[in-house]
Amino acid sequence: MLEEDVEIPMKVLIVGNGAVGKSSMIRRYCKGEYTNDYKKTIGVDFLEKKLSLNGEDLRLMIWDTAGQEEFDAITKAYYRGAAGCVVAFSTTDRDSFDAVEKWIGKVEAEVQQIPMVLVQNKIDLVDQSVVTKEEADQKAQAVSLRFYRTSVQDDFGVNDVFSYLADVYLKKMKAEESQAAIKAQNKTSNPQSSSPIKESFQGKSGAGIRLDVQGATGKQRAKAAKKGILASCSVV
Ligand code: GDP
Ligand code: MG
Repeated sequence: MLEEDVEIPMKVLIVGNGAVGKSSMIRRYCKGEYTNDYKKTIGVDFLEKKLSLNGEDLRLMIWDTAGQEEFDAITKAYYRGAAGCVVAFSTTDRDSFDAVEKWIGKVEAEVQQIPMVLVQNKIDLVDQSVVTKEEADQKAQAVSLRFYRTSVQDDFGVNDVFSYLADVYLKKMKAEESQAAIKAQNKTSNPQSSSPIKESFQGKSGAGIRLDVQGATGKQRAKAAKKGILASCSVV
């Protein structure tokens, strides 16, 4: 059990080509708002959303890209300290679907493996769809990601995406805490041993998340992550 009455900060990213609905998804989830106007910049670095899950309180900070994705100019600060990631494409934009692996690669190049999901957005636009559910499903399996279909416009599926990421993150933190406790115990009983403990953690999706436990508890890491997030706010 993690400490009570402590809000756990969680930085979440949304990556994907321009115009797939990333900014709209963040606004829909955090503020319950939606507009059809396509504004490339919403003028904020991230929006927040509080979430209670399995008795834990989380504060999700969901970062927006302000349109830099179109110029391949997303800064390292955007990725820094991320604890979850949505990889989004639009069902009406084939290029955005083909770019999914590129986006996963960019995230993995900047952050340790973090909980990630694949999202097919704009599924309300059935007549304009150029990506079938089946091929999207296949891609999700190929890249070992949980797959969600959303319509930000109709508020369909959006909450599930973030609840899932938060759930995987909480499980990961709890696993880290118990591993750190075991490591501390091992050190006491065998002070010579200094090999790092590694554990494979199986998420709900079946997607494996590898954890390298370096002695910090989940709570300590949350605090460190919080500092990283606050530091990066000022540079972006
Ligand atoms: P971003 O560039 O990825 O941040 O995309 P935006 O959030 O700016 O959205 C691009 C356009 O798609 C906007 O006009 C949105 O209103 C529209 N849009 C976003 N989500 C949906 C959706 O689920 N369905 C439909 N029909 N339009 C959407
Ligand atoms: Mg945007």
